[in-house]
Amino acid sequence: THRFSVVQTAPPDSILGLTEAFNADPNPDKMNLSVGVYKDESGKTPVLKSVKEAEKRLIDSETSKGYLSIDGMVEYREDVRRMVFGDAIAGERVAVLQAPGGTGALRVAADFMRTQLPDLRIWIPTPTWANHPAIFSAAELPTSTYRYLGADRTSLDLPGMLEDLRENAATGDAVLLHGCCHNPTGIDPSEDDWKQIAKVIADKQLLPLIDFAYQGFGDGLEQDAVGLRTVLEQVDEAIVCTSFSKNFGLYSERVGAISLVAADAGECEAARSQLKRIVRTNYSNPPRHGGAIVATILADESLTALWKEELEAMRTRITALRESFVQTMESTGKGYDFSFLLRQKGMFSFSGLTPMQVDELKSRHSIYIVGSGRINVAGMSESRMQTLCDAVASVMS
Ligand code: PMP
Repeated sequence: THRFSVVQTAPPDSILGLTEAFNADPNPDKMNLSVGVYKDESGKTPVLKSVKEAEKRLIDSETSKGYLSIDGMVEYREDVRRMVFGDAIAGERVAVLQAPGGTGALRVAADFMRTQLPDLRIWIPTPTWANHPAIFSAAELPTSTYRYLGADRTSLDLPGMLEDLRENAATGDAVLLHGCCHNPTGIDPSEDDWKQIAKVIADKQLLPLIDFAYQGFGDGLEQDAVGLRTVLEQVDEAIVCTSFSKNFGLYSERVGAISLVAADAGECEAARSQLKRIVRTNYSNPPRHGGAIVATILADESLTALWKEELEAMRTRITALRESFVQTMESTGKGYDFSFLLRQKGMFSFSGLTPMQVDELKSRHSIYIVGSGRINVAGMSESRMQTLCDAVASVMS
């Protein structure tokens, strides 16, 4: 008998499954608005010019493939600290570890919370990125949900969120926040909302775990850190999980970081030592190449300027696509109002399309959208906007 005969097939990843169906679809006019990667007007996910140039320099200058230390490259860690916190927190209170992507950082964070902070429960928004509950479950970290999406499905339920954190969370629990560009809704708190959220977090002594996967895709690099820094004005402990997959376009290179903010330098060092232990028994040490690319870009003024330009171009393209979609839907003359998309941030939005409409878009128009109605705005293109909007209008009427 085969021992693996007892193994049951796991359910497929719903979003990646859609991409398989998309790839197999022979329709030349097909559109993929499901998967969460940035695409340019031609539908490609390009390597940034700044990244290519940094890679050339690295190939020439690299002298060793020896291991990095468990917590990664020093310059890279400093870069992350500056980008995320600015001058808000003294460096000695922040332990930054280079990690394999935002996902790797989240898993290290989850393992840390589970093993070092007994009886901790983490509150996650409904909805949230599907991998959040999956990672916490894999780490055996208990989760509860707080309200986030309003009943209209286009705005934040701030009163519900605050009430859940104030009334239902226990003092000292953890709370997962999306630093900006909430996935999957695109709905972010305003600056004033952040102040109210920060106050509840402080009052209830909650530990914020901030997932920061889209810095620079919302309102700009510095502006997107406002929420996180507002929270940090009120509390002296937090964990931030950074991903450079989107803002440097480094998806497959697996570049991210976990940053732990402690109340003082001593506690910071103890926490760092535990984080390193978790890394050592997981993936041992982070991959070099992606982190080296980021560090090379940020160490050079002109490469930094080029990268910022490229990031800004991605951000403004997404905003322009949002505007164009709203206008084109309006111009169908059937009274379709998608103006809520203009208030949302980042690559994703909830379109409000029902599962049935989503299904019809796929079967009749080869337009692929996640069942929840989440669309990747960056997957749209200016040249095919009319086609897209005609199809959406046809399934809505
Ligand atoms: N958090 C959120 C909310 C995300 O959408 C993603 C990417 N889809 C990540 C974290 C992690 O991305 P990665 O592991 O590719 O860096």
